[in-house]
Amino acid sequence: MIIPSIEYIVQQTKEKACPIWQVVINEEMADSGITEEAIRERLAQTYEAMKHAAAKGITTSLRSVSGMTGGDAAKYYNHLKAGDPLLGDFCSKAVSYALATSECNASMGVIVAAPTAGSAGIMPGAFIAAQEIFGFSDRKMVNSLITAGGVGGVISERASLAGAVCGCQAECGSAAAMTAAGICELFGGTVEQCMNAGALALKNCLGLACDPVAGLVEVPCVKRNGMYTVFAITAADMALSGIKSFIPFDEVIDSMNRIGREMPACIRETGEGGLAATPTGVAAREKIFGEKK
Ligand code: SF4
Repeated sequence: MIIPSIEYIVQQTKEKACPIWQVVINEEMADSGITEEAIRERLAQTYEAMKHAAAKGITTSLRSVSGMTGGDAAKYYNHLKAGDPLLGDFCSKAVSYALATSECNASMGVIVAAPTAGSAGIMPGAFIAAQEIFGFSDRKMVNSLITAGGVGGVISERASLAGAVCGCQAECGSAAAMTAAGICELFGGTVEQCMNAGALALKNCLGLACDPVAGLVEVPCVKRNGMYTVFAITAADMALSGIKSFIPFDEVIDSMNRIGREMPACIRETGEGGLAATPTGVAAREKIFGEKK
């Protein structure tokens, strides 16, 4: 599926008087030859896999092989169950599931890349929490997953979804933008509001370094997923209130692409800069791999 721009999606929704997800499904059908029902079935299975990873992470104290991460999702979920979180029900549940999915990834469990493994917690975190708390139907959830996928498709086309190319703004930033647009649609946002939500979320991630400690997708990745889930929900809520992004979404994506390609290589997934280069990060790398640089 190749979707050139957010503007193209918006124009198509106007011309065909249809929602965003229908435009994205039409493009996917034209490109792959797969039927709408088959696409929906595949997405429904994907969503089930997301739920499974999230549930595993909050009920089991998952540990990564390196020992750097694990147990925080269960810790935060217990904090939520005890009635202690500062965040409301929706956001605190979303954070729990985001951490859980990321810990599942770090411990080599099965996750859905959304859009990447490193940023796999953000979309399930917000979506699963929204369905549990507000009771959206499975069909509505799939519709909004498709909308989120359309946004991811445009980012992939105009920029990149890879931390090695554009830093973490391309991974957690893209996941946050996709989630914001999908969540906005779920709560009845107009096409323009959904795209403003995506733009607001991505703008908040510009310049974000990819600096995994010891080159492993754990630190800062797991906790970053928890944080960016809340940013995505905040962006959706701001857009639903009528707040607009001053810079159009396509231009935000282009800006992310420019910034990413100007970033030094040490903060583009090499594990050599940023947090990875701190004394603690270097010591962790030496402990895990026994190597000095
Ligand atoms: S810091 Fe790098 S490896 Fe970790 S989630 Fe971000 S882009 Fe992925």
